[in-house]
Amino acid sequence: MATADDAARTAAPAGSGGRDHVVLFPFMAKGHTLPLLHLATALSAHHGAGGGGLRVTVLTTPGNLAFARRRVPADVDLVALPFPAHPELPEGVESTDALPSHALFAAFLRATALLQEPFTGYLASLPAPPLALVSDFFLGFTQRVASDAGVRRLTFHGMSAFSLALCFSLARRPHPPADESVIEDGGPFRVPGFPETVTITKDEVPHAVAQASDVDDPVTRFLFDEVRDWDYRSWGVLVNSFDALDGDYAAILESFYLPGARAWLVGPLFLAAGESQEEDGEDDPEGCLPWLDERAAKRPGSVVYVSFGTQVHVTAAQLDELAHGLVASGHAFLWAVRSSDAWSPPVDVGTEGKIVRGWVPQRRVLAHPAVGGFVSHCGWNSVLESLATGQPMLAWPVMAEQAANAKHVADILGAGVRMGVKAGANAAPELVGRAHVAGKVRELMDDGQTGRRMRASAEHVRKATRAAVGEGGTSRLALRRLVDELQRSYDGGRRGDE
Ligand code: UDP
Repeated sequence: MATADDAARTAAPAGSGGRDHVVLFPFMAKGHTLPLLHLATALSAHHGAGGGGLRVTVLTTPGNLAFARRRVPADVDLVALPFPAHPELPEGVESTDALPSHALFAAFLRATALLQEPFTGYLASLPAPPLALVSDFFLGFTQRVASDAGVRRLTFHGMSAFSLALCFSLARRPHPPADESVIEDGGPFRVPGFPETVTITKDEVPHAVAQASDVDDPVTRFLFDEVRDWDYRSWGVLVNSFDALDGDYAAILESFYLPGARAWLVGPLFLAAGESQEEDGEDDPEGCLPWLDERAAKRPGSVVYVSFGTQVHVTAAQLDELAHGLVASGHAFLWAVRSSDAWSPPVDVGTEGKIVRGWVPQRRVLAHPAVGGFVSHCGWNSVLESLATGQPMLAWPVMAEQAANAKHVADILGAGVRMGVKAGANAAPELVGRAHVAGKVRELMDDGQTGRRMRASAEHVRKATRAAVGEGGTSRLALRRLVDELQRSYDGGRRGDE
């Protein structure tokens, strides 16, 4: 709820040209859209009609409209721009999780670049320029258009400051020559610009970094042509994380942007949006929650929740091994398999295993007393949701920056164990056998000394996570300062457009 203090601080000062409108433009992938819908909710709750007078609009496309509407309050406006047709994309696919294959991701990106025209039209149609645009980094054209219209743009990557800075450093900053042989031998090396305590090996280099060096890769080409030269010109970087977790890496991240640009750590946004968000809009079509209720009554903390998010395609052979491994672990499990994976389990999972393919209310699942651990691909949203509920993780990264998130969780925070797979940077993802899966799941659910230590670390982070978004918390203050600073920036007291 907005406080009187929020209201006093956020009323648009005269110098801001009366700008009182924030426009959010998420990328059409669930892991990128959800946090910005939560930001819209947080802005409306703390700086909106009830205190501060900011108006909030989310730009989306017709196919994503219903998903968004269920997740933001009525006073957040939604505007649907037509999703551009593209010859390689099946009709009606307007979100990456609906893509029949990851090979179509580059075509999807190219289609979204065609949103430039309707977006320009939308901005031009507004009676007054907005205070700010918060848009996904994939939508690089938004920086161009916003800059032409004299509007500050914050870029959003959906990644933590640690992982984003780590990927930028590895992709763009040279290693000291002395490290070359260490790297080749698979030994730990320092990440340029990072504290000495952060070392990685070549097998831990995130997939996104390896991909960035492959100039023939169509996604890399798109990033070069449409994103990179615009992203670094952003007025600021919005980060779905918080100071206690990621503050040490904010300055490193800022060093990749123009002088004066700041990283704003305002998350976890699903908590900033308010707890009621966890109850609303999250359907449970598969009956996960009642199933968990039964398990909680028998044995709290006994269920392993398994999910690889909405982007990763796990091969049928790996799904088979996972199924055998989960059954062999002896632990009850709830496993979200992507609906697009045409696969059926090779083993009877019995009454202690539940495999679901529809939408899972993940945050409520993780918060459920029946759940005691999370086998996760380490998408950043899943990591934050796990940390916010104190669930330890079995970190099994597959693509993108997930290997960096796994490192953060397991090695730096001590809130998880690693699957011990190569990240895919130097090799195709390995097939992890059933015995290894079973052993690692047992390690995750271990109630001996190691398990207790991991759970204590997870609990410590859970408390810090909640504190960050509470009254006076670092993320709450950062969001307030962000609004303040944006308003002041139009006075000429702060760096304007580049
Ligand atoms: N999610 C969910 N239910 C589902 C599938 C996904 O709630 O059935 C949410 C999940 O809680 C998370 C997001 O979708 O907030 C996925 O983002 P993440 O970064 O974890 O992974 P990605 O899908 O982007 O790889």
